[in-house]
Amino acid sequence: MASTKESAPKIALVTGASRGLGAAVAIRLAKAGYDIWANYHSNHAAAKEVQEVIQKLGRKCVLLPFDVGNEKGVADALEPLLAAAIPDVLVNNAGHNKDTLMMWMTREEWEGVINVNLTGFYLVTRSVLMGMMKRRSGRIINIASTAGQSGLAGQTNYAAAKAGLIGATKSLAAEVCKRGVIVNCVAPGFIETDMTKDLPLEKILPSIPAGRFGKPDEVAAVVEFLCSDAASYIVGHTISVNGGLYM
Ligand code: NAP
Repeated sequence: MASTKESAPKIALVTGASRGLGAAVAIRLAKAGYDIWANYHSNHAAAKEVQEVIQKLGRKCVLLPFDVGNEKGVADALEPLLAAAIPDVLVNNAGHNKDTLMMWMTREEWEGVINVNLTGFYLVTRSVLMGMMKRRSGRIINIASTAGQSGLAGQTNYAAAKAGLIGATKSLAAEVCKRGVIVNCVAPGFIETDMTKDLPLEKILPSIPAGRFGKPDEVAAVVEFLCSDAASYIVGHTISVNGGLYM
């Protein structure tokens, strides 16, 4: 799966790569031989740290600060790079939550979460899709959530976005598989990142058969597998990585 010519290194574009799951995915794919285009929103210090780790692994890492939900921001950042190369892998990982009960949820809280988690997928994927289809190869992995499978009180906006991502994964997979582009989803449960650091462990742990939160690298390992030749017949699927929280 060469990017531009036979000898060119493979490229993975990872959104939300400065922290948490995205950082773990970027570092894992760098270890697997990919150069990384690392998107993030605004945490430059964290992104720099990820870049240094990747460079120490002997791989290139381009930092791309932009809001995945901002059409112009996406185009301005990606178009110059896409003129020279098309990524072999896209991991749509950027996400955020704004939890509150539906009866209190403002339209801003609804739209903000849908915009980053779902419209972000649309904008970034559309940017790289044509190039992947023309080349007739590519892997797209979308990071959903258990919330999008089971629902969760207080997360109507987030669950809607993540369930939307699971549906979009299936539709897009059906559209582009014949063009060599394979699309799948990973649905993490509770994983140790900034997003979950303030949650009440004592209330949540009894509901997880594994009895613990997952590690970011346990999600990254599944993403790496979905990028591999070994996963070439898995199409439009959602793999749960949740310690048994939802089966
Ligand atoms: P995190 O630690 O909060 O990191 C979020 C990452 O996304 C950061 O790199 C952040 O960039 C970036 N980001 C946020 N908004 C963005 C935007 N508008 N444009 C571009 N980048 C943006 O989150 P995480 O726990 O690693 O979550 C990663 C993904 O996994 C998300 O899609 C999340 O919904 C999903 N997930 C997480 C869990 C969990 O338990 N942690 C469970 C299920 C699903 P900055 O550093 O610049 O802010």
